[in-house]
Amino acid sequence: MRIWSMLLSLSLLLAVAIASGAEEELPLVTSGLNGLPEIEFAKLSQQDLNPLGAKALALHPEQWKHGETEHFIYHFTRSFVATSVSIEAEFHYRVVAKELQREQPPGDTKSHIYIFDKTEDWQEFQSLGKLEKWTGGIHSAGSLFIRRDPRNKFAGNTLGHEVAHLIMHRFYSEGVPCWLDEGFAQYVSKGARASYQRARGYIAKPRSHSISAADLIPLKALVAFLDPPPDRVETFYDESERLVRFLVATDKPSFLALLDALGRHQPFEKAFLRIYAGRFASAAVFEERFREYAAKDAATSETDGG
Ligand SMILES: [Zn+2]
Repeated sequence: MRIWSMLLSLSLLLAVAIASGAEEELPLVTSGLNGLPEIEFAKLSQQDLNPLGAKALALHPEQWKHGETEHFIYHFTRSFVATSVSIEAEFHYRVVAKELQREQPPGDTKSHIYIFDKTEDWQEFQSLGKLEKWTGGIHSAGSLFIRRDPRNKFAGNTLGHEVAHLIMHRFYSEGVPCWLDEGFAQYVSKGARASYQRARGYIAKPRSHSISAADLIPLKALVAFLDPPPDRVETFYDESERLVRFLVATDKPSFLALLDALGRHQPFEKAFLRIYAGRFASAAVFEERFREYAAKDAATSETDGG
């Protein structure tokens, strides 16, 4: 049973405020003056072509408000909720773009984020979209739909995970394999939390879940899934995160080259053997090393989350 780690959001607000010279007050304590400015729907710089977006806005159309920041457009019902989301989203944008070592091309489209802060509305919407069970959000064709409970708005790394998907989709518009998309989103959102904690004086490393050899999904099967396997969702996420972590740790430039190759839909094994040539004697040796790596730190995995 996983409970996503706490702390991230409030911490990020503080970290962002500090990093940006604290020119803006924390949205926590604002009453609107420093909140995300509301923009009329017709005056947004871009419209969302995603049909799921239109469906979301059609649910209780009178209650939606809109706003935008440098990389995102927000649809929301309460400004203070949207304000905290917007600050976190831009923070995560910077973290992920840095991790991918890429800058957004000028004039690129903004991603739309739909924020549901009422359970009833979210449940109603869920029946229209495909929910990603482990994160409480849906990313679909470059747009993001999230449930954001204002009472718990400072919990979880959901937003970091989902923003990673959005950015991955921008940079690799033809899609990347499921393991890589989910594994990278987990890897980078855990890293963002840890870097915040370090900034606050904690000795923190990203916590990654280990997987025992008996539970591992064979790599051939892992890289072939189009969706997380329903009966092994948790293992799929943990193992995908571990695989990304292992590939990055082995050689970051090679990982980025592999990402580019898989983003062009090259088969995993062929691309891997070409790009990581010289690092592992064969695919079998690589899998053996990965199994050892995946099983590390078994004792700490139970304490993750909170
Ligand atoms: Zn995901």
